[in-house]
Amino acid sequence: MEFFPVFMNIKQHRCLVIGGGEVALRKIELLMKAHAEVVVISPDLHPELKKYLDNGEIQYLERSFQDSDVKDCRLIISATNDNAVNRTVSELAQAASIPVNVVDAPDLCSFIVPSIIDRSPVVVAVSSGGSSPVLARLLRAKLETMIPASYGRLAKLLDSYRNKVKETFSNTLQRRRFWEKLLQGSVTELMFSGREKQAEAVINSALEKGEAGIEGPGEVYLVGAGPGDPDLLTFRALRLLQQADVVVYDRLVSAPILELARRDADKIYVGKKNRDHTLPQEGINELLLKLAKEGKRVLRLKGGDPFIFGRGGEEIEHLLEDGISFQVVPGVTAAAGCASYAGIPLTHRDHAQSVVFATGHLKDNTINLNWQALAQPNQTVVFYMGLTGLSVICQQLMNHGMAKDTPIGLVEKGTTTDQKIHTGTLLDLPEKVKNIAIKPPTLIIVGTVVSLHEKLAWFDPNQN
Ligand code: SAH
Repeated sequence: MEFFPVFMNIKQHRCLVIGGGEVALRKIELLMKAHAEVVVISPDLHPELKKYLDNGEIQYLERSFQDSDVKDCRLIISATNDNAVNRTVSELAQAASIPVNVVDAPDLCSFIVPSIIDRSPVVVAVSSGGSSPVLARLLRAKLETMIPASYGRLAKLLDSYRNKVKETFSNTLQRRRFWEKLLQGSVTELMFSGREKQAEAVINSALEKGEAGIEGPGEVYLVGAGPGDPDLLTFRALRLLQQADVVVYDRLVSAPILELARRDADKIYVGKKNRDHTLPQEGINELLLKLAKEGKRVLRLKGGDPFIFGRGGEEIEHLLEDGISFQVVPGVTAAAGCASYAGIPLTHRDHAQSVVFATGHLKDNTINLNWQALAQPNQTVVFYMGLTGLSVICQQLMNHGMAKDTPIGLVEKGTTTDQKIHTGTLLDLPEKVKNIAIKPPTLIIVGTVVSLHEKLAWFDPNQN
């Protein structure tokens, strides 16, 4: 190791910053976060630093650096654009054994400042040993996405239980097992999804029952997988995928998304095809309940958003009856995903001030919808599950007053590398696509916004 990593206590300690510009500002703000007593030496001061000065948050010496400044401080940061000054500061500090950092000059530093992920009290520091600060920053950005924002709150909660846990379990091994089990159970997710009271209840009950209390029931995550492109998953969906014991998934969930699940997780397919239901809805509800009761972390993965034509509501209602804890993670719904990837804004100042999502699912060869309400001007209508009903949809909209030449788009396998868009008018699209082998899933978008596709299309996976 080129550098020895440490976390330093600088609370209420004098820390010297030479320089008062933009670069100094960033370092000073970091020092302030760690509650240092910051003294800035510089002939001039960045406007932001003036504000801190006016608020009494920093001290300021309005002058150039003098050799005698190097004394009585915990650390020194030199952030001037004068190399000679930076060098002098470094030499004097090192002679006085005061830790010194010269921004962007690793040779002059006795310590370097890492890239940090701040989830105080948890802080993750990343350093490339000065070799490539940009690389360290990129790695930091990756870690940011993996460590939920509420990590700090979780750490504080655990801290508040430290004494109680010590009282309950006298030996260290027991304590460690308790914490490990607790943190691998529901407490972590309860905190990450903002349910602190429930998390406390779980800890309290575990403490009451001693070690046996940690083996509570499992939980269910109802997660939206988005329309197909794995890049459209939310951070939370990805995190839960990587920790769930079982993944129960639909036909609409794309293979690359399933790939992201934990390697050793059980994957159970309950997909539905048009008429051939692999597992009826009641069966799925029962399955989720059974797995959760076995103590498993069950991830129910659904295409798009679980609460949009997804029957997600029914699945969790069932869990409620047995007191199984669950959370719902939204996903990018097909309408949003397909519209973006097709370059069709769903609303537009010149075209549509409202957008309606409807189901085009045929029942006895008709679709039971309020056609009058759908056939309104300045409105975009998106039909899910509409391919078999395409002719009925176009006919009904025209019957209820929509112009025959209203643009309509059919998005096939939206957001995936197989995406295709077919456009036409209410009058001619059904005929146009009749003899094309169209692969599900498909989404239908009706309205003059569809005319923007030609201009705004940007995603063309089949273009070489
Ligand atoms: N909960 C899902 C919708 C489930 S209904 C969501 O929020 O997106 C299933 C219908 O969604 C399909 O029949 C199709 O109309 C639409 N759909 C889902 N993914 C799609 C995709 N990648 N491309 C086009 N349509 C899609």
